[in-house]
Amino acid sequence: MALDPPTMLTISIALAAAAALYLAVEWRSIREPSLLCWSAGFATIAVGSTLALLRMSGLLLVGIWFANGLLVLAHWLFLLGVSRFTQACLSRAWYLIFAAWLALLLLPDEPSWSKIMLLANSLLVALLSLRASSLLRPHGRSLSVGAVQLRYVLMAHGIFYLIKALTAVVPGTLVDLAALRGEIIQISLVEGAMAIMLIALSMTGTERYQREKRIVRLAERDPLTALFNRRALEVRAPRLLSNVSSARPGALLLIDIDNFKLVNDLFGHTAGDRLLVALSEMIGSQLPEGALAARLGGDEFVILFNDASSERIVALGGSLRERFHHAASQAFATPQAVTLSIGAHLFDHPPASLTALIEQGDMALYQSKRGGRDSIRLVDGTLASVKPVRTE
Ligand code: GH3
Ligand code: MG
Repeated sequence: MALDPPTMLTISIALAAAAALYLAVEWRSIREPSLLCWSAGFATIAVGSTLALLRMSGLLLVGIWFANGLLVLAHWLFLLGVSRFTQACLSRAWYLIFAAWLALLLLPDEPSWSKIMLLANSLLVALLSLRASSLLRPHGRSLSVGAVQLRYVLMAHGIFYLIKALTAVVPGTLVDLAALRGEIIQISLVEGAMAIMLIALSMTGTERYQREKRIVRLAERDPLTALFNRRALEVRAPRLLSNVSSARPGALLLIDIDNFKLVNDLFGHTAGDRLLVALSEMIGSQLPEGALAARLGGDEFVILFNDASSERIVALGGSLRERFHHAASQAFATPQAVTLSIGAHLFDHPPASLTALIEQGDMALYQSKRGGRDSIRLVDGTLASVKPVRTE
């Protein structure tokens, strides 16, 4: 089968329709507005390419002006989708693109009509593609692989259309839009089919990465406090623990709220939730560099860090206890004080497992609770004889 313009247009119609359908199905499952814009963009290309075939039957206004206008609209929808994806604000000035397109209706019917049409159409498509590409520049946060691909595909597509516009002004270039004749038109049809595939693929990649990141976050975070959950701690702790040595001792702090049930019983579960969130924020704001913090469940939290010393543990635990006691006593008047008990363990060689380490912290925590709560009990495993230290 020869790759004549009608065949190329038919291939583009099929590819654009498939891309529109695929992106619409993706949108149905994740409801990302950018997917809907992109799907609409490809649907517009499918319709535009179908109408473009009509120019062969002499319908020039519909087959050229309107069909090419739909191509511009499609790129505008791509830009809108990218702005939704990057949460960038799109200036209203971009609506002027349509006014420019309408103005082309006023073009006099003279021999240079095809060239001016091609020039205007190519410049508008280039402008929209390059703007969409520039919105995908990393702004402080790193971009996903899909987004980087989309950025470069849109950039290449935009540059292609810019070159296409320039060729229109080169004297002697054959541009016959009515018969789809001229080298640049032929090349453009091939580029069009390729661009549909590459743009659609990178758009789905872009969203998929975003979705996977969201799923990973949901799987490893505690929904109430957004701290790591136990599963995430189990995955991340081995790396931290394997770096423990006598030169860089490790520390575990097991933290449990004292009399937390009183807050729930007297002020309601939501008030209890607020206190858990407040504690997690205190923990987050005081974490040593490279430390891991997690909510193990209920009112129990854990902190793991390296380069530890008994002084650092006591300072961290003391500060947390003080801040928490202050916040809880201000917010809730309870018959017994709502405070923190902490069981801490300092160690200078990697433990057998995280579970074994938590068990040791648990024992220290139990001692703290038994000793009257509101205290930190530290077991210094780096000393030849293990001595518990209790601070009030
Ligand atoms: P203790 O001083 O011995 O630590 O007793 P406590 O009152 O703090 O209670 P304990 O630690 O034994 O139990 C924790 C309670 O926390 C049990 C449960 O009702 C409550 N809890 C567990 N998860 C949540 C939660 O997500 N939100 C709220 N508001 N309460 C929770
Ligand atoms: Mg408790």
